[in-house]
Amino acid sequence: MKDINKFFGCNVFNDSVMAERLPEEIFNSLKTSVKEGKTIDRSIADTVANAMKEWAIEMGATHFSHWFQPMTGITAEKHDSFIAPTDDGHIIMEFSGKELIKGEPDASSFPSGGLRATFEARGYTAWDPSSFAFVKDHTLCIPTAFCSYTGHAMDKKTPLLRSMDAINTQAMRIVKLFGLEDVKRVNVTVGPEQEYFLVDKKLYDLRPDLIFTGRTLLGTKPPKGQEMSDHYFGVIKPRVAAFMHELDEELWKLGVLAKTEHNEAAPAQHELAPIFTTVNIAADHNQLTMELMKKTALKHGLVCLLHEKPFHGVNGSGKHNNWSITTDTGINFLSPGKNPSDNLLFLLTLVAVIKAVDEHQDLLRISVASAGNDHRLGGHEAPPAIISMFLGDELTSILQDIAKGVHHDDAKRIKMTVGAQVIPYIRRDNTDRNRTSPFAFTGNKFEFRMLGSEASISDSNVMLNTMVADVFSEFADRLEKAEDFEAEVRAVISETIKQHERIIFDGDGYSDEWCREAAKRGLLNLRSTVEAIGHLNKSENVALFERHGVLDRIELQCRADIAYENYCKTIHIEALTLIDMIRRDVTPAITRYTDKLCIAAANKKSVIEGIDLTVETTLIKQLSELNAQIFTLTNRLVDAVKKAEAIAHIDRRADAYHSEVLWLMENIRHAADSAEELVDRNYWPYPGYDKLLFNI
Ligand code: ADP
Ligand code: MG
Repeated sequence: MKDINKFFGCNVFNDSVMAERLPEEIFNSLKTSVKEGKTIDRSIADTVANAMKEWAIEMGATHFSHWFQPMTGITAEKHDSFIAPTDDGHIIMEFSGKELIKGEPDASSFPSGGLRATFEARGYTAWDPSSFAFVKDHTLCIPTAFCSYTGHAMDKKTPLLRSMDAINTQAMRIVKLFGLEDVKRVNVTVGPEQEYFLVDKKLYDLRPDLIFTGRTLLGTKPPKGQEMSDHYFGVIKPRVAAFMHELDEELWKLGVLAKTEHNEAAPAQHELAPIFTTVNIAADHNQLTMELMKKTALKHGLVCLLHEKPFHGVNGSGKHNNWSITTDTGINFLSPGKNPSDNLLFLLTLVAVIKAVDEHQDLLRISVASAGNDHRLGGHEAPPAIISMFLGDELTSILQDIAKGVHHDDAKRIKMTVGAQVIPYIRRDNTDRNRTSPFAFTGNKFEFRMLGSEASISDSNVMLNTMVADVFSEFADRLEKAEDFEAEVRAVISETIKQHERIIFDGDGYSDEWCREAAKRGLLNLRSTVEAIGHLNKSENVALFERHGVLDRIELQCRADIAYENYCKTIHIEALTLIDMIRRDVTPAITRYTDKLCIAAANKKSVIEGIDLTVETTLIKQLSELNAQIFTLTNRLVDAVKKAEAIAHIDRRADAYHSEVLWLMENIRHAADSAEELVDRNYWPYPGYDKLLFNI
């Protein structure tokens, strides 16, 4: 057995390495700025850079790279070697404070949504000292933020860091009001649970749709799916277990707190959950997790699919964003404690989140909008596109009593016995779980469950942090003026819950009745990405982000444009892939098989005149009809793609892709899947769902 303690974080330039290698005052200065969220003193950069370089070289690194998260949603790195020539024709290994703090990648090849055209191609990466540097693939990776020449954010990290400052500023006002004098910083903590699929690499290589789009554009359902519920938490197959084991080790080396691994609901689907940490680190770690999942799978002859909906008719993959607020002294704002009805900081935070979610349903919806996630949300497997919140019986009744102005007796936690003497009694939780709610209170945190599996968690947390910061600021304005603080807090809680009650829903979020009920309550139902993005630039949203210095009008406009662009490009690639698959594989396969049937029928007839040819003729007819349908629809798809591409306005182009191109693709799929069910397996050009999902 390996000693995990020995290799946990061994590839990370973490506190213990820094304490060993940096002069004490420099280490302390760095630690204090990170802990309190203050700008680091530039004069220490050279010393830190040198220590980092020495350590990285010992770890086998030859290069360094600013590691950043452009608007592609994945990470980017540009490697520079440490070498510098000397006068006598040799080299030395160099890395300066300047190189640590600032990098200048060419910004022109990253999505910028107009920032590039408006300004310049020049972009900067800037060191984020709050996330540790690490060695990966012989390269010292330095987590950085990425901005344009004008200082506009061109990445996912910058607004996240700004939103952390925003919520810290406002939460500190609340903290002060509650007399918690020793608190210096309030942090957001996040634990993202990550779902994914594993498929055999040899089968994957036979499917252009998986290679080019990450999802199957064709494929009929196998006879067995997930209906037996035998995969969820089932015994992990040896090949998958070996993959998980290696993945855990690789993640632990990078200091990622990978904790829980299990099989998910769908066949071939799995989940990994880390232990929660500060949100920017959680975001960095989730990116590393996704990268390492892909890399490690390949070593085991597997491919990791992170797409939200790799298989039609089978549950897709999401990401659960567990979110809470904690002081540097360890107080979790969302921890109810033994007597929640008297825990005013908890209740105030709870209603702040309720108000924020109700008032900014559109922002949360936008933060999870993508072409991939459109296949999941509202598909009876993931939360609907409507945002609502689940609190559980106990909290709901506390809030109802406060709203009514009556005293609430906190429920005692019930001791449970299982009925067999040998089993110790267990305590029952005060709330049951609700799996269908998009935004659920789960004990001491909120769990936002609408994120797509492939998404960066930054977007959703930028929204959450900023929205809650705004409500805290409003509450603080009022409470700072209050004469009787406690009475005013109770009044705020009571008023807020009355005003925002409509967002709370404890029933079945997957049901059709809920959609009707939500409409009655006036809740937003933004069904698609295209519908959602348009809300980003609404004046109240621009005002909100500008008020807290998280994103300005230009940055928001660029982000909306990038979202539309990403959407169009995704569907464009999918459509081209489908056209290619149909024209060069599917149609020829159906034709070949039909021809085979014709020959078979003719042969049979030549042997026995008048023999029954029902099988051959029926199949020939059905397949010819399907082939003709597929042919016509594919020609229409070619035209629809051309038409969509010609639309100059990005939002209208996205709409054309959504309403016309996707619609045709779905119809082609329907016909092709019907054909797959009729064609001899040996003639069909691709491995089917049966093999993809069950052959590991
Ligand atoms: P489940 O969603 O299956 O109930 P858990 O209760 O184990 O799973 O928690 C899920 C995730 O929530 C884990 O990543 C865990 O680290 C994270 N989590 C727990 N407490 C907090 C917290 N205070 N802040 C943020 N995340 C948290
Ligand atoms: Mg969960």
